[in-house]
Amino acid sequence: MFSFALSPEQQRLIAAFRNFGETVFTPERVFQWKRDQGLPDDVVKGFTDLYFSFESPTEQTFAHNIMSQTLILEELSRCAGATLPFQNDLFNLQIMNWFAESTTFSDALEFYRRTGRLMFSFAISEPTAGSDSMGMQTFTKTVDGKIILNGRKNYVNNGEYSPNILVAAIDKDEETPGKYPALAFWLIPRNLHGIRAYPINKIGQSMLPFASLSFEDVELKPEYRLSGNEGGFRQLFRLLEFGRVFICASSVGMAQAAMEDAVAHARNRTAFGTPISQFQQIEQLLTDMEVSLYNMRMMLYRAVWDIENDASNKRLSVALMKRYIPKAATEVASNAMQILGGLGYTEDSRVSSIWEDCRGNQIAQGTDQIMVYISAPLIMEKYEKEDVQ
Ligand SMILES: Cc1cc2nc3c(=O)[nH]c(=O)nc-3n(C[C@H](O)[C@H](O)[C@H](O)COP(=O)(O)OP(=O)(O)OC[C@H]3O[C@@H](n4cnc5c(N)ncnc54)[C@H](O)[C@@H]3O)c2cc1C
Repeated sequence: MFSFALSPEQQRLIAAFRNFGETVFTPERVFQWKRDQGLPDDVVKGFTDLYFSFESPTEQTFAHNIMSQTLILEELSRCAGATLPFQNDLFNLQIMNWFAESTTFSDALEFYRRTGRLMFSFAISEPTAGSDSMGMQTFTKTVDGKIILNGRKNYVNNGEYSPNILVAAIDKDEETPGKYPALAFWLIPRNLHGIRAYPINKIGQSMLPFASLSFEDVELKPEYRLSGNEGGFRQLFRLLEFGRVFICASSVGMAQAAMEDAVAHARNRTAFGTPISQFQQIEQLLTDMEVSLYNMRMMLYRAVWDIENDASNKRLSVALMKRYIPKAATEVASNAMQILGGLGYTEDSRVSSIWEDCRGNQIAQGTDQIMVYISAPLIMEKYEKEDVQ
């Protein structure tokens, strides 16, 4: 049966990450690290040291079940009031874990444990294929016995800085691709001849700088190809569900941070000789924000529960969660800005940048509209089945 009660282990986990987050992510430092477009080495290493210190030796791969990862990301995003690289790291490791051979994956994991940095960025979106990833144009083809990569990727987090790129490309040597185009993943050094990276300026989420990447007649070694597991697009779509959970966990944490700032301001600010928290319209805003936070958490934990229990409706739960949470979080942040008045519209308060960060999550990992595109047929199917019963 679905339950919200946290186990003693989960409570210990949250307490440890809260202690880490509240010590490390002071508002002044977070402001600076957003300007620097990333976290310092000791902070990312501090995260991985703590993360892996909880690892149980019997647990597979990079440890912690998805519920624990969700709780960690939510708590740290609340402490920082900002999008952190960790959600990106955990999702990218998930992709690598599935598609790479075990030695390639363990090398990447070992590098991450040792440095706190991922050795690769993940490049999938393209100028002409964002939501419609099956329209991907980047491809490999064997020419005169050499494997050649051509194409473009955009919005690649850390694409300018990571030493390697995990590139999704259509395999044009595959003659019978079937229902889906033949998709392959390649882990390639970023300094290969023919690769160029161009920075793109984001309006928020600045600790994860974007880049656009171009590949022009890049010669690949066969061993760059990941061949641990097959599954192509079908498997990629399944794995995207993890990314959607992580991004929603971050949105909930940031919305909670905005709520806390709004309450603190409402308590301290007076207007017309009265604390603004006593004005009915501010009370209403705070009430609606709290309602949203309750709902967001329920959607998040419900989707995670459905994934963990392999429930038949898990795809629908994840799509509904991703449809609901980023937008609701953006609205909470926007209402927090309203409560802070002029201060809320400046860089001196963090609610303005929380709004920017939450807004990006309505686009990243599948837009609000794509969640309708996924949900609607599943809803039709669900009610059709119920009609039959
Ligand atoms: C903060 C952020 C981080 C990101 N990180 C990465 C990353 O690390 N790696 C990476 O590869 N990519 C990344 N992306 C890219 C992201 O995956 C794409 O931006 C997203 O999938 C949308 O694609 P697009 O921008 O091409 O928009 P499009 O697909 O062109 O969509 C444009 C508009 O049309 C709507 N639309 C499209 N299809 C439909 C439909 N069938 N029905 C209704 N409406 C539709 C969309 O909802 C949107 O409103 C990131 C994006 C953001 C904002």
